[in-house]
Amino acid sequence: MKADEIRIDNLEVFAYHGVRRDEKENGQTFYVNAVLYTDIRPAGREDDVSLSTNYSEICHFITNWMQETLYDLIETVAETLAEQILLNFGAIQGIVLEIRKPHAPVGLPFESVSVRIERSWHQVYLSVGSNLGDRAAFIKQGIDQLEEHLLIQVQKVADTVETEGYGFTDQPKFLNTAVKARTLLTPRELLDQLKLIEDSAGRTREVRWGPRTLDLDIVFYDKLIYEDDRLILPHVDMENRYFVLKPLSQLAPNFRHPILGKTVMQMLEALDTDKD
Ligand code: ATP
Ligand code: CA
Ligand code: CA
Repeated sequence: MKADEIRIDNLEVFAYHGVRRDEKENGQTFYVNAVLYTDIRPAGREDDVSLSTNYSEICHFITNWMQETLYDLIETVAETLAEQILLNFGAIQGIVLEIRKPHAPVGLPFESVSVRIERSWHQVYLSVGSNLGDRAAFIKQGIDQLEEHLLIQVQKVADTVETEGYGFTDQPKFLNTAVKARTLLTPRELLDQLKLIEDSAGRTREVRWGPRTLDLDIVFYDKLIYEDDRLILPHVDMENRYFVLKPLSQLAPNFRHPILGKTVMQMLEALDTDKD
């Protein structure tokens, strides 16, 4: 189901963004259009403003942000503003933001130039594991670092499970958990961030599936199906891994794999029967 929409049409803001000096000195009028995706129903049913996303507050927020910053490009204004709105108004799940500049210095007859971007929170499930050193401490450190990232919000952490090594069994036992989070990062940005966190836990890469202080994998990123040379989504082997499915089943038993069509619980049960 699509979320409800709140629309802001042609909010007029006088500000000083632009590449040229005269734009920065004299300023000009910008127009902002926004569609905010949220759940209006609780406020709509109760007619209670405290349950709603206050649009007057958002209009002031947009105006202040545009007047307190100074960027060359309206692309940057749109990008930073969308991010700030999503970070500051927790009930807003996504935003379409258009910034129009009717007085841009083009030197030709035209009505306006504009940029339009769509940004939203993404629901992600991560798998976290360790089998070297103080495993629980490495896992905790990894999750703390996720939490510290401005564009990642950890929502739930599963209980840990202990299992024998995978693929390559002559190694210490693994401790694994799963994390439910929402993020404004793209899949590749999130992967880069996970690698930085692994590195800061002193992870070295000798053998695949070999011993490691910290392993952070993206299991699901929304229902995205994606593949490039560095990233495959959903995680390619998750349906065969007890240590991924067991903790995940605590957070998202009914989340359906976008390719296999099975829920996390169904995948876990299929594994349990295979074992017998
Ligand atoms: P596995 O990926 O089978 O769990 P691993 O975690 O031991 O094995 P790593 O050495 O941590 O393997 O990662 C190998 C590469 O997998 C990473 O460098 C990364 O680019 C790539 N990769 C592909 N898809 C994903 C994903 N969904 N999450 C994390 N890494 C991924
Ligand atoms: Ca892994
Ligand atoms: Ca990995």
